[in-house]
Amino acid sequence: MIIPIRCMSCSKPVGHLYEKYVKELEKGKSPKQVMDELGIKRYCCRGLFLSHVDLIDTVARFKKS
Ligand SMILES: [Zn+2]
Repeated sequence: MIIPIRCMSCSKPVGHLYEKYVKELEKGKSPKQVMDELGIKRYCCRGLFLSHVDLIDTVARFKKS
C-alpha cells in the first residue's frame, strides 16, 4: 500500500528513503546497490523495500465518497 514510516521489525525510520530508492531504480541501478547507498543494512528493512508494492493510488480510486 504505502511504505511504512518505520521498519516493523527493528523500528528504523525508512519511509523517507523510499522516494530516493524508486528514483535510483528508475536510473537502472540494482536494488542492492541503492539500499547499500541509502544505508539500509538489516535484512528486515531490505525485505521491506524489496517486497513493497505501491498500491495507494490504485486503492484511493475505490474510496467511499
Ligand atoms: Zn529493520
